[in-house]
Amino acid sequence: MANFNRPTTEIAHVYRGTFIHSTEQTALLILEDALLGVDTEGKIAFIGKGAERDRLSQTFGFSLSEITQLAQHEFFMPGMVDTHIHASQYSFAGTALDMPLLQWLNTYTFPVEYRFKDLEFARRVYTQVVKRTLRNGTTTACYFATIHTDASLLLGQIANDFGQRALVGKVCMDMNNSAKYYRETLQECQEETRRFIAELLSKKYPLVKPVVTPRFAPTCTDALLGQLGEIAKNNNLHIQSHISENLEEVKLVMGLFPDSQSYTHVYHRHNLLTDKTVMAHGCHLSNEELTLFRETGTSLSHCPNSNISLCSGLLNVRNVLKHKVKLGLGTDVAGGYSASMLDAVRRALDLSKILAVQDPENKALTFEEAFRLATLGGSQALSMDDHTGNFEVGKDFDALRVNVAAPGGPIDLIQHDDGPKTLFEKFLNLGDDRNIVEVFVAGRKVVPFTEPTPE
Ligand SMILES: [Zn+2]
Repeated sequence: MANFNRPTTEIAHVYRGTFIHSTEQTALLILEDALLGVDTEGKIAFIGKGAERDRLSQTFGFSLSEITQLAQHEFFMPGMVDTHIHASQYSFAGTALDMPLLQWLNTYTFPVEYRFKDLEFARRVYTQVVKRTLRNGTTTACYFATIHTDASLLLGQIANDFGQRALVGKVCMDMNNSAKYYRETLQECQEETRRFIAELLSKKYPLVKPVVTPRFAPTCTDALLGQLGEIAKNNNLHIQSHISENLEEVKLVMGLFPDSQSYTHVYHRHNLLTDKTVMAHGCHLSNEELTLFRETGTSLSHCPNSNISLCSGLLNVRNVLKHKVKLGLGTDVAGGYSASMLDAVRRALDLSKILAVQDPENKALTFEEAFRLATLGGSQALSMDDHTGNFEVGKDFDALRVNVAAPGGPIDLIQHDDGPKTLFEKFLNLGDDRNIVEVFVAGRKVVPFTEPTPE
């Protein structure tokens, strides 16, 4: 029996073929010969069986000739959600992975981020990162920009122009003793954050919103953290930051904030832990801190490539899930060297298997679970699961059309009668952007790119 909303809007597109997604109950749900309709607002109007096409076409008023049929080795899956990526650091992705976090920030990161006061440089990098992530199937991205308000606004505009769903954060830091050239005063942080939020919201981009972004506790005074907590609360905004990435950083925070009983409490006492907060890493959180995450509805972004590349720590995902903390995956470019969420899926699996080798009590993640973290889990981590994350009726159609047998692609199919689960597993482990033939966000086809018409 098909699921559908009472038809209120017209159907814009109907697709027939294999649909693969996750639900709360099932990490991998494969719907073969399914029929999915997208309305003119980009929302999923119905999902049913191919055999029900006559009845569905009558109910929703589309003609059978409008149905787009997927080929044998194709399927649709939900667009992936990158819950933590530094758009500005994309300019040095793939390099500079030879230092631990605090030295890495001073040596490589702050000098590069400082360059984003130059809007032309910002335009070049931000255009590239939005295109690269979209092409690799990231339909939703939670971005850190830099401390520069105008360049951060430009990132929002570019994401909107290319049709990516995005949270964009102007970074706040009023304490940076190692790089005094790259910070603002408390007053500048406050005023510029307010300006950033007001100007971005005034654009009324349908899919791009601001996110309040204290970089992390070591670069923020108590006063700044307090003000940002207040701004987020008064405007009901998302919040993002970093927590417990490496042990040296945790020690530094405990020294800087001696009144707080834990790193988590530094944020908690400034009202920065809410059900719209996503914190990156959390490799070294205690069980008590994880419990506080669950109680406040705060989520974690697991960034395995970055955690391995900067030798930061090994997050025990099984333990996070046991504590019922909302969890998504992030690339953390450029601490993580790959901007592809498929890489995040693979590194999450690798890292969890390393923990299983160390202690068999740590049951390794399955590929189905890693897929759910990259899609539905990410949407829950960003409190966007009302709109995206899977193919539930009423959500926006954020989807990847995958061709496992794409000509010139990275996958050789030996058994031509492989079932959809085998094809899907091969794509997760071996596939890349050559297999992602089309990308949709809120029903709109955003990949392949339509070249802007010359002015
Ligand atoms: Zn980060």
